[in-house]
Amino acid sequence: MKAIRVHTPGGPESMVFEDIDLAPPGPDEIRVRHTVIGVNFIDTYHRSGLYKLPLPARIGSEAAAVVQAVGANVTRVKPGDRIGYVNVVGAYAEEANIPAWRAVKLPDWISNETVAASMLKGFTAQYLLKRTFPVQAGQTILVHAAAGGVGLILCQWAKHLGVTVIGTVGADSKRELALANGCAHVLNSRTDDIVAKVKELTDGVGVPVVYDSVGKDTFESSLDCLAVRGLMVTFGNASGPVPAFEPHRLAPKGSLFLTRPTLVHHIRTAEETQETADDLFAVIRSGAVKIAVHQRFALSQAREAHEALHSRATTGATVLIP
Ligand code: NDP
Repeated sequence: MKAIRVHTPGGPESMVFEDIDLAPPGPDEIRVRHTVIGVNFIDTYHRSGLYKLPLPARIGSEAAAVVQAVGANVTRVKPGDRIGYVNVVGAYAEEANIPAWRAVKLPDWISNETVAASMLKGFTAQYLLKRTFPVQAGQTILVHAAAGGVGLILCQWAKHLGVTVIGTVGADSKRELALANGCAHVLNSRTDDIVAKVKELTDGVGVPVVYDSVGKDTFESSLDCLAVRGLMVTFGNASGPVPAFEPHRLAPKGSLFLTRPTLVHHIRTAEETQETADDLFAVIRSGAVKIAVHQRFALSQAREAHEALHSRATTGATVLIP
């Protein structure tokens, strides 16, 4: 079968589309054939070596799929079942073996494309809004990269929970999209003074939480957007990792809190995974959160997909079709 592999970590050109052999699934694994594969920023960190994988590396962390075969101990799914999964590397491929407990059986009403475009990003929005900082109706929050994959879902969901969202985008062309997807206010991160605008929009108080996935470029200004005892959630590195930071600096800025969460610790078991999926699928089914796939590429064009992500020109979700 064909898969994308990285032999030497580097830029998008380091992804090679090649034939590989796949062993039969282990006793607790299932063999799946991917129908649609999600593209996520974490794939770029795996490709570049920012997050290290054994080489040659299979990358890709999310897909919708159909079960082909099951290992000897597996009872929760059977061949022919339609499933979605996240957090198993190797999704950039026609097929994969995954731990059976990671598979979420899909309800009939949801499309493969919606699943591949929403599970990893929507699970992230879910834990950020409900577990990292449980938002409350009436609050005003700041979300960076509001028109991105995670951003569009996070902002719609926050609005659905009664929150006023200030979103940032890197281009005026993304403004309308962000406004139509949950943001009450949209700031341009390249031209606006974000701290001054956030203070203006919050009567000088600041926001109780910043969801910051941009990392290096926005970390310092995000801290300055927070209200006293606010929470800085740095959850991504789209512009590069945040440099070393001295905790004592949080005191004069208002006894701030700082966290660096990651999805893997929020879906540690099949039960946690299913609960998160149920919550996400419910807001999608109700129409409160719409899933937008704005970029589609063939699996063999993963390089172009990554170039698009790096260009900051994408909005919403990007998928690969095997
Ligand atoms: P996005 O679709 O949001 O793409 C990233 C966006 O970041 C860009 O569109 C761009 O939007 C913005 N950005 C700002 N600076 C840069 C830069 N220098 N280079 C590239 N992009 C930049 O990606 P995803 O939805 O896949 O992921 C969003 C973020 O969330 C990523 O940082 C990812 O690592 C993180 N994440 C973290 C998880 C966790 O559990 N910790 C789980 C899932 C995702 P604009 O130009 O409008 O600013």
